[in-house]
Amino acid sequence: MIESPTSPELRKLCDRLSVMTPAAESKTDADAWPHEKLRLCAEAGVYRWFVPVEVGGLGWSESDIAAGYLQLSAACLTTTFILTQQVSALRRVAGTPNEYLRAEVLPNLVTGSSTATVAISHLTTSRRHLGKPVLHARSTVGGFLIDGYSPWCTGGCGADWLVMGAEQDDGAQVLFAAEKSLAGIKVESGNQLMALTASQTGAIKCDQVFIDEKFVIAGPKDAVLSSGKGGGTGGLQTSTLAIGLASAAVKFIANEAERREDLRPTLDALQGQLHELETNLLELAKGVAADTLGCSAQDLRASANSFVLRATQAALVAAKGGGYVQGHPVERWCREAMFFLVWSCPQPVLQSNLCQFAGIES
Ligand SMILES: Cc1cc2nc3c(=O)[nH]c(=O)nc-3n(C[C@H](O)[C@H](O)[C@H](O)COP(=O)(O)OP(=O)(O)OC[C@H]3O[C@@H](n4cnc5c(N)ncnc54)[C@H](O)[C@@H]3O)c2cc1C
Repeated sequence: MIESPTSPELRKLCDRLSVMTPAAESKTDADAWPHEKLRLCAEAGVYRWFVPVEVGGLGWSESDIAAGYLQLSAACLTTTFILTQQVSALRRVAGTPNEYLRAEVLPNLVTGSSTATVAISHLTTSRRHLGKPVLHARSTVGGFLIDGYSPWCTGGCGADWLVMGAEQDDGAQVLFAAEKSLAGIKVESGNQLMALTASQTGAIKCDQVFIDEKFVIAGPKDAVLSSGKGGGTGGLQTSTLAIGLASAAVKFIANEAERREDLRPTLDALQGQLHELETNLLELAKGVAADTLGCSAQDLRASANSFVLRATQAALVAAKGGGYVQGHPVERWCREAMFFLVWSCPQPVLQSNLCQFAGIES
């Protein structure tokens, strides 16, 4: 059991994850769900980090969670990303005032013996410009009828539960847990992605799915995701994974620099920036005010996005042509880094990325 982010057991788990075959991240093999890596995480008690002691968890603080995620994402981004989606669902269930869900569904999620994932981004960052909800909820006797689709869900194939959100005509949103086997739910197969294909990310279709009110996590209300914990948009989790991936690239450059003096100035600069990002992340996670720190969660996300692109591409320059050959870790990191340009990006972060690419002030 990993008791804290400084535990040698966490180091051991990360060492194992990083040397296990990266075939699961293969660009073409959509069936390569990382069963074994996730099993190792469950066995090491990773799911327990995120829930309070009174419900069988270890109740890690937000800064300990960030420190743990930094190490996991440097070892295997795909596995860690899948974990974030499962944990997001777990925390939504753990945080609900709904006693039924907490008593009947939560215990197995905490041990990892059953899993849940989220299909909620259409409430915040996806399909918002369409002007009408892609997943519609209608109140009915004893619950809600759900119709439409959720464009994105990671690991729906392997999950027992789907934590989903839908919107009523009046704009109020309802968050609920649906058993994947429920009549009317169809989990589409995962898309071929630029990277992280093994995360099995695809759409969920709902055709007149009845959700009993005992499965409602929150709502109906405006902006249902803004209350409760679950790693929503604008939170620190996305930045944490970006910084973790970047640290793997910086470590690669450090190894090369041991015998290549020309890499030293680049390495020194990147290490300095990495240290600053990690410090700001952990301080924000401890609850230090953005004004005091001179860095908000949103500033951190924009800087982390920029840094992960620069660090992975610097690693490619250092690895030269060999790093461009498929199967080299650096080419995979470069593809993985682009994920942060599209994952859970609120509008100000998108804008900051665009300004950087356009070479204009944000
Ligand atoms: C690999 C991966 C895994 C993911 N996993 C999950 C998950 O497990 N759970 C989850 O809830 N979410 C998940 N997401 C969703 C993610 O967090 C973002 O919400 C998503 O990437 C946003 O992209 P979108 O194409 O849906 O955006 P949209 O905003 O829907 O854009 C789609 C298209 O609409 C057009 N468009 C966009 N904005 C406008 C506009 N203002 N006016 C006119 N046209 C416009 C553009 O042509 C664009 O290509 C995942 C995403 C990816 C890529």
